[in-house]
Amino acid sequence: AKNLGRNRVALYDLSIDAARAERMRLADDLRGAIEGNALDVVYQPIFDITTMRPTGVEALVRWLHPTDGLIGPDRFIPIAEEDGMIEEIGEWVMRRACQDAMDWPAEVKLSVNVSPVQFRNPRFDTLLGSVLASIGFPAKRLEIEMTETHLVADPERAQAIIESIRALGVAVSLDDFGTGYSSIGYLRRFSFDKLKLDRSLVHGIAHDRSTRSLCEATIGLGRALCLQVTAEGVETEAEATILRAAGCHALQGYAYARPMTAEAVGGFLTMMVTR
Ligand code: C2E
Ligand code: CA
Ligand code: CA
Ligand code: CA
Repeated sequence: AKNLGRNRVALYDLSIDAARAERMRLADDLRGAIEGNALDVVYQPIFDITTMRPTGVEALVRWLHPTDGLIGPDRFIPIAEEDGMIEEIGEWVMRRACQDAMDWPAEVKLSVNVSPVQFRNPRFDTLLGSVLASIGFPAKRLEIEMTETHLVADPERAQAIIESIRALGVAVSLDDFGTGYSSIGYLRRFSFDKLKLDRSLVHGIAHDRSTRSLCEATIGLGRALCLQVTAEGVETEAEATILRAAGCHALQGYAYARPMTAEAVGGFLTMMVTR
């Protein structure tokens, strides 16, 4: 039994080593990905829930790895954050997305996800301002998406940064609301323009009473605080109907549009907006 125990420990160590080696390999490959043109940005439309016309688009980064194929941000953003690459990647995404969005109908807003690491840089607002100026992209068409993890470490500083972003004319939304440490306190304390309901709060509302009640109550909460509420991960018409009745303002999800290339979304928006 003793022997078996030792083998088990050895196996466990091996798998940790393998995971670590795999992570290091990806980190090395990621370093060359920007220069190697291996990163790309796709765009998912966001619709006004009443008119069902697209009013915005969310930029989502992708990595086309030479041997592993397409790697999603959930897998490589954490590596980029830990290994000091996120600022470069984040700025690249911001530039690329603003450039792409210049070609779209002017009433369509652009949302970009920002990492807490980028957000913590005291020069973030200056950097953002200079990216906008160099491209000529209007600040009022841009929206920054952040999560509660941006706020916990130093709430006072976080509020100051949010204010400085809004002073540029850029809107700020709280993403993934309804997961993690979501708290009503955050909504009151920070000056967000928008609230994005996490898809775990949306998924199941057509079948499960308590999920539905929680979702409806959260929409009511957002409205009570004068926030625009967007529901993410809407996968069925039935979910959209419930969200509409509950007073949600906008929706995003596979039921209406999947993330698509810059070229495809340009065509989609032109068709839908000028229809
Ligand atoms: P997120 O900001 O919550 O983005 C929404 C995610 O849900 C996207 O996954 C999108 O493809 C997916 N999604 C959209 N509609 C549906 C639906 O109807 N059903 C389901 N099941 N999923 C849906 P994606 O593109 O894999 O991105 C994952 C996360 O990675 C994002 O979550 C965001 O937190 C992060 N991320 C993406 N792009 C960037 C970026 O440029 N910078 C940073 N820092 N993070 C990013
Ligand atoms: Ca987001
Ligand atoms: Ca989200
Ligand atoms: Ca998320």
